[in-house]
Amino acid sequence: MKVLVINCGSSSLKYQLFNMETESVLAKGLVERIGLDGSALIHTVTGKEKVRLERDLDNHKQAIALVLEALTDPEHGVISSFADIEAIGHRVVHGGETFSGSVKIDREVMAALRSNIDLAPLHNPPNIMGIEACTEILPNAVQVGVFDTAFHQTMPDYAFIYGLPYELYKKHGIRRYGFHGTSHQYVAQRAASLCGKSLDEVKIITCHLGNGASITAVDRGKSVDTSMGFTPLEGLIMGTRSGDIDPAIPFYLMKQLNMSYDEVNDLLNKRSGVLGISGVSSDFRDIEEAADRGDQRAQLALRAFCYRVIKYIGAYAAAMNGVDIIAFTAGLGENSPPARAEICKSLTFLGAEIDEQKNNIRGKEADISADTSRVRILLIPTNEELMIARETKAIAANA
Ligand code: ADP
Repeated sequence: MKVLVINCGSSSLKYQLFNMETESVLAKGLVERIGLDGSALIHTVTGKEKVRLERDLDNHKQAIALVLEALTDPEHGVISSFADIEAIGHRVVHGGETFSGSVKIDREVMAALRSNIDLAPLHNPPNIMGIEACTEILPNAVQVGVFDTAFHQTMPDYAFIYGLPYELYKKHGIRRYGFHGTSHQYVAQRAASLCGKSLDEVKIITCHLGNGASITAVDRGKSVDTSMGFTPLEGLIMGTRSGDIDPAIPFYLMKQLNMSYDEVNDLLNKRSGVLGISGVSSDFRDIEEAADRGDQRAQLALRAFCYRVIKYIGAYAAAMNGVDIIAFTAGLGENSPPARAEICKSLTFLGAEIDEQKNNIRGKEADISADTSRVRILLIPTNEELMIARETKAIAANA
């Protein structure tokens, strides 16, 4: 079965075409600047050079048509006709409380997706546009929605409820949802398997440390707590997002500094995090370089980032009354031995000891814990697209 995985952003679209017999990627790519000047498709067939196609693209439908043109092109295509694509898996950011797993998309699901727009006004509309475009162009393919929030729907009520009037949850859905679920689920599954255990016998803390960052407590296969909340702004200090702050700070900014709602929103989402603290960059590579040169604010940003990761790991070990595996993933988690070492230095009280030699590795699955460590510390490159393709195949096979 060939499965196309699509991840639509407001002006971008990422795709991967999988051959699910071997779970291999046939081709992948990115359409950027949809609806803007200079839109283009960058398409890579596995094992070949990238090709760039520049084309005016007004909307996601035109973008998907171009992706299909590239996939079936006699020169840089990998399939002979659109009909070869049996199923399409869409990454959908917010499933609210409606979706606790992946679903085959039909009219009712589309209506439910639309009703969740208020919860993710920036993310869900482009996801919906991508689905509508595929429905028009590939009406015979089974379409599946895979939600960033679904894995966390197992969180108990005492973990997802905020200390706010209960009606706000009941009437307006204000509660913690969590995100990056597909990544946390994939990493937890790989982590258990790498340790030769079944998921239902281990307590895992998965640390997705990228530009967006979150940590999840996975107790015997179920997400029981996660650091992102009502929106992906809560939790860790991120590339440009503040993470947890005193909720009174926005009032102060509005009242004392005369900032508008939009300015505060922009400040907390785009100008905060390690970018805001360091003043250097949102990219950890730049910050690590500046910190190595002696830049004190870059050093502070890294220390503050790692300190909060340590606190969440400690909290989640307590939430699960123990931890067997700590797994690092995503851009920084996969590629920064110094950040992993800095974090693990404070976790010996849990019986988690990193092996400096083994930790000197990037982007590959590995056990980086010392032989004497009671907790396994793992590096697991995430693969959200493969997870989406697997979910899509499973649902399409029963459709
Ligand atoms: P997202 O998907 O949220 O954009 P990624 O998981 O791709 O994030 O992570 C991107 C971040 O990972 C970059 O901003 C960069 O800071 C960090 N990163 C990537 N490679 C390295 C590296 N070699 N060393 C340190 N940090 C890295």
